[in-house]
Amino acid sequence: MYAFSFERPATLADAARLAAAGGKPLAGGQTLLASMKLRLAAPEQLVDLGAVKELKGIRREGDKLVIGAMTRHADIASDAQVRAAIPGLADLASHIGDRQVRAMGTLGGSVANNDPAACYPAALLAIGATVHTTGRTIAADDFFQGMFATALEEGELITAVSFPIPQRAAYLKFKQPASRFALIGVCVAQTDAGVRVAVTGGGNGVFRHAGLEAALSRSFTPQAAAQVAIDAGELSGDLHASAAYRANLISVLTQRAVTKALG
Ligand SMILES: Cc1cc2nc3c(=O)[nH]c(=O)nc-3n(C[C@H](O)[C@H](O)[C@H](O)COP(=O)(O)OP(=O)(O)OC[C@H]3O[C@@H](n4cnc5c(N)ncnc54)[C@H](O)[C@@H]3O)c2cc1C
Repeated sequence: MYAFSFERPATLADAARLAAAGGKPLAGGQTLLASMKLRLAAPEQLVDLGAVKELKGIRREGDKLVIGAMTRHADIASDAQVRAAIPGLADLASHIGDRQVRAMGTLGGSVANNDPAACYPAALLAIGATVHTTGRTIAADDFFQGMFATALEEGELITAVSFPIPQRAAYLKFKQPASRFALIGVCVAQTDAGVRVAVTGGGNGVFRHAGLEAALSRSFTPQAAAQVAIDAGELSGDLHASAAYRANLISVLTQRAVTKALG
């Protein structure tokens, strides 16, 4: 074991001060603790955000849902406001990992980590969410910057994510059977800013698909999505799935997500 110190602040101000001084934020530990065990991360100080009440909870603010960074996946999946306003988001949360992961994993940890096969980044991007941090607000379009990379600066904490309530949204993934991360995941949303389609699991990180967005803007139907050719050239291939297989999944899952969004 290597040495590190552990802080458990009770207020956002204290957490922000510790993080700004170099402490590593700890949310549910679902990625960070495993990384430490594997020696992929060796922080000198952990700042456990679990006691900071300001970071938890879900509230409606006008036409937005605001979800605290430390809100667990299980709470988002079961929350009556989320299920009523953005059922596709509650559904997404209910299919993350397994029961243990959903009981510990958090929205903020997932978004900060930006795993290239994670589910929430697709929802933030498709719904046009905004990430709130200790210093500023960042549109999802600007936040995700490729594999495990985000616009967050050292010492900056995510405090909440606000989701404008879409007219319709749905997320579907083809699960990697061992981890249940997305081999491919697609989130489609009809929003006041138009139709947005975000894809996760395809390679370097979550991305919007311009061709699908254009087709679904003309006609929000599975048939319109089926007409769009998906270029495998920009997708990754590995032992789980070739790039061509992933391209086909994007097409099929988009069609099914549109059907699901239409109810
Ligand atoms: C077996 C397994 C299966 C999984 N399946 C899925 C899946 O199907 N879909 C999916 O999307 N995800 C999946 N995950 C990921 C999981 O849902 C968590 O969201 C993810 O691991 C992050 O965990 P956490 O919230 O506990 O954050 P932590 O592990 O505590 O932190 C992750 C990173 O985010 C940073 N961080 C945490 N909170 C903040 C904050 N507020 N501000 C700034 N930085 C912060 C930490 O410093 C660290 O770098 C799976 C994980 C496991 C272990």
